[in-house]
Amino acid sequence: MNYKYFMPTRVLMGENCIFNNKELFKPLGKKALIVTGRQSAKINGSESDIKKALDAVGIAYLVFDQVMSNPTVACAYEGAKIARETQADFIIGVGGGSPMDAAKAIALLAAQEIQEDYLFSGNYSNQVLPLVLVPTTAGTGSEVTQYSILTNDKARTKTSIASDLLYPALAFLDASYTENLSIETTINTAIDALSHAVEGMLSVKASMISNGLACEAIGMIMECVPDMLKAIETRGKFSLKLRETLLNASMMAGIVIAQTGTTAVHAMGYSLTYFKDIDHGRANGLLLGEYLKLVEARDPELVAKILKPMNLGSAYQFKALMDRLFGRKESISRDEINQYSELAIATKNIANCVVKPTEECIRNMYTVSFNA
Ligand code: NAP
Ligand code: ZN
Repeated sequence: MNYKYFMPTRVLMGENCIFNNKELFKPLGKKALIVTGRQSAKINGSESDIKKALDAVGIAYLVFDQVMSNPTVACAYEGAKIARETQADFIIGVGGGSPMDAAKAIALLAAQEIQEDYLFSGNYSNQVLPLVLVPTTAGTGSEVTQYSILTNDKARTKTSIASDLLYPALAFLDASYTENLSIETTINTAIDALSHAVEGMLSVKASMISNGLACEAIGMIMECVPDMLKAIETRGKFSLKLRETLLNASMMAGIVIAQTGTTAVHAMGYSLTYFKDIDHGRANGLLLGEYLKLVEARDPELVAKILKPMNLGSAYQFKALMDRLFGRKESISRDEINQYSELAIATKNIANCVVKPTEECIRNMYTVSFNA
């Protein structure tokens, strides 16, 4: 078996891990730009913990807190301009996948001139500002990947910058920041991570290492599903232990997709987010069951390997579980299905699938996964 494995990010996990490891900031420079969303990092304590740690080691900082969900190319250029003007030595991204992905693009654009037309080319010089990432959702795994996914209005979809330059130097995982995430965001982000682990196993680049991490992450996330179903009914809170399990699992699933990339499910989900504003994790979760059913029909052994850590017997059972988690489905018209299918089939994710769907299969998956 030929495979590659690369993961250069130092991961630090646990309560107060930022302050307890503050010395690690010192080699990165004297001034940081903290990149975050508009609100949540100020409420969950992550932004002030970063500031306390930087103050303690004598590093100056400035905050850019204008990152929106599904960050745009324009937002990345705006942040990079601020990083240059303030002569930041390194970038700290804190928040969900959106601020972390924006921080990655900012670190790249602050260190080198890249015209917008070439931003997604993958053809960059070897310069980037050092990056530190602090996830406050447990889903994207962006803290350990080389991808920055931006809303690309020119291409009318979401497009990834993929480059080893974007691996963070440090990732700090403190589950206490995720404690007040809403039930819906907790479920959406957890199922995004589940989708990463499952799609990693459905990728032509899957290896022994990525499959080992993926199976473990799948088991950990599925262990939390009964509590998620209960929370939907009772509107109760999740325990810190569950939050830690999800944060660890999403990081592990991130390491998986850093090796394997994603497959048809993410390719199909991007249009649902771009055109219909359906949350990224929710879009994946609603599509994943139908794609597993398609793969099961052609390669039952592969799907059995994925279902084993879930303790489920069939892709049909998996889909029924996702339907319970996500409830009512959005409506989608015939024209929309045709448009999104055309976009999805043209992505490189399709070439990455062990079982490659045709455009007709993709249309069918949209039709049965949503209210068509
Ligand atoms: P997000 O867009 O980063 O955040 C969603 C919402 O959650 C925002 O309103 C945010 O508020 C809030 N939020 C974040 N942390 C919170 C907390 N601890 N408590 C309460 N609210 C909180 O959502 P996400 O699902 O984490 O990230 C999605 C993005 O990641 C998409 O753009 C997707 O394409 C990308 N993604 C990237 C990768 C990768 O490998 N790079 C992989 C998968 C997905 P604020 O705006 O106020 O912060
Ligand atoms: Zn994802």
